[in-house]
Amino acid sequence: MTLDLLSVLFIVVAIGIVLLFFVLPRWGPHYTSRLTCPHCKRVFNFHWIPGATISSILYRGMRTLKCPYCKIKSNYDVMATRVRQPRKLQKPKSKA
Ligand SMILES: [Zn+2]
Repeated sequence: MTLDLLSVLFIVVAIGIVLLFFVLPRWGPHYTSRLTCPHCKRVFNFHWIPGATISSILYRGMRTLKCPYCKIKSNYDVMATRVRQPRKLQKPKSKA
C-alpha cells in the first residue's frame, strides 16, 4: 500500500474543508446578533462571522435573513444589534 501525492493532497484538502466549515464557525471569531423580526415581532439570535461572505463586505452590517418563525426574508442590521464581541481586549488593571 502506497500513498501517492494525489491522495495525500486529497486528505489535506478534506481536513482543510472540515476546519474551515465546522471548526472555525463554532470556535473562531464570530458575533451574535439579537434580531427582532419586523413581521412577527419575535426575537431570535443570529451568529455571523465578520467578512466571511462577499455580501457582508459589500453591505457591511446589513444582512438579508429569513426569519426562523414566519420564514419571511427581510433586511437586518446585524452590526448595530450585535450582543457579543469575538474577542474582548481586556486591559490588565494595574493596582497602585
Ligand atoms: Zn418573523
